[in-house]
Amino acid sequence: MDYNNPNFVLMVEDLTVSFDGFKAVNGLSFYVEPNECRVMIGPNGAGKTTVLDLICGRTKATSGSVSFKGKELLTMREDQIVLAGVGRKFQTPSVYEDLSVFENLELSFPRGHGVFGSLFFRRDAEVKERIAEIAETIFLADLLDEKAAFLSHGQKQWLEIGMLLIQDPELLMLDEPVAGMSVAERKKTAELLNRIIDHRSVIVIEHDMGFVEDIATRVTVLHQGKTLSEGSMERVKNDPKVIEVYLGH
Ligand code: ADP
Ligand code: MG
Repeated sequence: MDYNNPNFVLMVEDLTVSFDGFKAVNGLSFYVEPNECRVMIGPNGAGKTTVLDLICGRTKATSGSVSFKGKELLTMREDQIVLAGVGRKFQTPSVYEDLSVFENLELSFPRGHGVFGSLFFRRDAEVKERIAEIAETIFLADLLDEKAAFLSHGQKQWLEIGMLLIQDPELLMLDEPVAGMSVAERKKTAELLNRIIDHRSVIVIEHDMGFVEDIATRVTVLHQGKTLSEGSMERVKNDPKVIEVYLGH
């Protein structure tokens, strides 16, 4: 990879966070290209979730740099990072159970941020069209009026992905999106991710190696807060270091 490529969407350099002296992320560097699906794998406790927490501003880094389209994120607040175009999905789905699929998506539609933003928000046709488009993408077009509470676990995960997609992030980060999903739902999720990287980059944390194989442009193997191995799935899964600390188990 050409690390001087100015076209990286995300450049993470020497990222470190220390919790009472324990470095959960320790001098980590990696670079994400446009339209890339980067998958992060590694043993439990490797620091994967913490990396996403640092990028989205939920956890403050001790040192290093996270540059998104040339903007330093480490000095920005969580809400500013969202506005800059970074969406983050947590492990457990957090949809509004009492609201319909449509209403969940509607609530997530980005509103104007100027003084008049709220006045101009009632662009009903535009909002409806966008919601219909997203619902199609997340396989919920026929369930727009269904209460979220009645969706399967997998469908709730898709809805939450839709609630992020409607904000059109340039970088979308997903923490174990297929955990608890059926085999069929995993296949559809892979299809969904392959479709959405046409317009953005994605970072996914995942354990299911079959799923990783279906979606990854490149894989970063994290171990003790550092990169153990990085490259194509083919390269990483044949790396003796990776087999020793992760895949061999
Ligand atoms: P992974 O997602 O790879 O399983 P995590 O990023 O959740 O790993 O955790 C990495 C390590 O950092 C673990 O040992 C965890 O206990 C520790 N850790 C994570 N967040 C905190 C925190 N806020 N305070 C202290 N330790 C933390
Ligand atoms: Mg985790």
